[in-house]
Amino acid sequence: MNIILLGPPGAGKGTQAKILEDKHGLKQLSTGDMLRAAVASGDEIGRQAKEIMDAGQLMPDALMVEMISQRIEQPDCAKGFILDGFPRTVPQAEALDALLEGKGLKLNAVIEVSVPDEALVQRIETRSRQSAESGAAARSDDNVETLRKRLKVYHDQTAPILPYYERTGRLKRVDGLQSIEEVTAQIEEILGAPVRG
Ligand code: AMP
Repeated sequence: MNIILLGPPGAGKGTQAKILEDKHGLKQLSTGDMLRAAVASGDEIGRQAKEIMDAGQLMPDALMVEMISQRIEQPDCAKGFILDGFPRTVPQAEALDALLEGKGLKLNAVIEVSVPDEALVQRIETRSRQSAESGAAARSDDNVETLRKRLKVYHDQTAPILPYYERTGRLKRVDGLQSIEEVTAQIEEILGAPVRG
């Protein structure tokens, strides 16, 4: 089973992807995590990524498509994968369709975790307060200022993906304001009746 989780930054896609990973033996593929690993390793992609990520901007489409194309070939994706943070632009979505077709793979569900901007801002403010209190290091792009930039990029560049999947009858929506358990239950219901892709 191959799934895409869409939605704005901080909507809970990563949390849901991890739950699905455990329950269904799927592999979570978070392009954000892959880029953070590249930043930590200090390689060429990582050096380029740090600046772009801290500014809340997007990495080049071709690079991200290549990263995902190689990743889904790995044996740990054999039972299926959950894309979290990819595709982020219409060109990425189109390239994904083409590359899946080329590899003979299907998309079983495209699920939008929908959360209004102001709720996301409130969530990050709570998180910043908690991490300041605990003394834990926050992600360098995890602050209100960067979130606002990331939300603008989301609305300008990523939200246009939604009609792309809607047109082809593949988009399902869940209300991300509910509890983690309720969101999971809604996703499970959708997966019980996956769309053809
Ligand atoms: P995330 O953890 O998914 O919120 O991603 C963190 C940051 O990584 C984003 O703000 C972008 O700068 C970059 N990024 C992650 N995935 C993509 C993608 N599919 N295309 C372009 N940039 C991405």
